[in-house]
Amino acid sequence: MKVTFLGTGTSQGIPIIGSKHPVCLSSNPKDKRLRVSILVEWEGNTYVVDCGPDFRYQMLRAGVEKINGILFTHEHTDHVMGLDDIRPFYFRQGDVSIYGHKRVLKSLKKRFDYVFKTKNRYPGAPSVILNRIKNKPFEIGGLEVLPINGRHAELQVFGFKFNNFAYLTDMKTVKDKEVEKIKNVKVLVVNALRIEPHRSHFNLEEALEFIKKVNPKKAYLTHISHLLGFHDEVEKTLPENVFLAYDELQLTI
Ligand SMILES: [Zn+2]
Repeated sequence: MKVTFLGTGTSQGIPIIGSKHPVCLSSNPKDKRLRVSILVEWEGNTYVVDCGPDFRYQMLRAGVEKINGILFTHEHTDHVMGLDDIRPFYFRQGDVSIYGHKRVLKSLKKRFDYVFKTKNRYPGAPSVILNRIKNKPFEIGGLEVLPINGRHAELQVFGFKFNNFAYLTDMKTVKDKEVEKIKNVKVLVVNALRIEPHRSHFNLEEALEFIKKVNPKKAYLTHISHLLGFHDEVEKTLPENVFLAYDELQLTI
């Protein structure tokens, strides 16, 4: 299985428009972060987790020619706003499968009403196949995916476990019984926003505590704000098996 980090930034991305913060001005490519998303590939299958406002450029940058579907963690703008850019895939492949909690699918219907219209459809509008996720395993491309339920402050969020790889973003609290599902996984990706606490995201300390509980072989941090600091400096402070993810990083699992 191959995982590509399409974006590792928080909702505004890094650099933030107009910001003079040193991290936003950094010339290190590892300090430039698009909105958070990953590409997961196995045996000819290509799935994307979340499709935020940078989706079009992320697909071009990673050279993606077809996708089998999109899994949504939750409905916040930085995770869904690129949905219109599935059009090239739709024109070439037909309806695109999307997966999400029923609340997420409802939110997409509201935001992208033209995608879901059944009468008088605009000819250029893309079309999707809705797949509702509950907190139960489901199958895509011959692989069992296990949802991991968590909270982003009050909002329910799903993380996903694919074989020995778990991807969790926008988490603030995860119950022990959900942690059990990913214990001792080979590779864990989890969000770490910044040093200071935040009401709806793990900060660095909370992410590191969470990693200790899960006890993965390796962990990568994502959904990073400029306030976490420079990639190269922060990484030096991390435990031996913990790394900062960066855009275009690829993992083979
Ligand atoms: Zn987010």
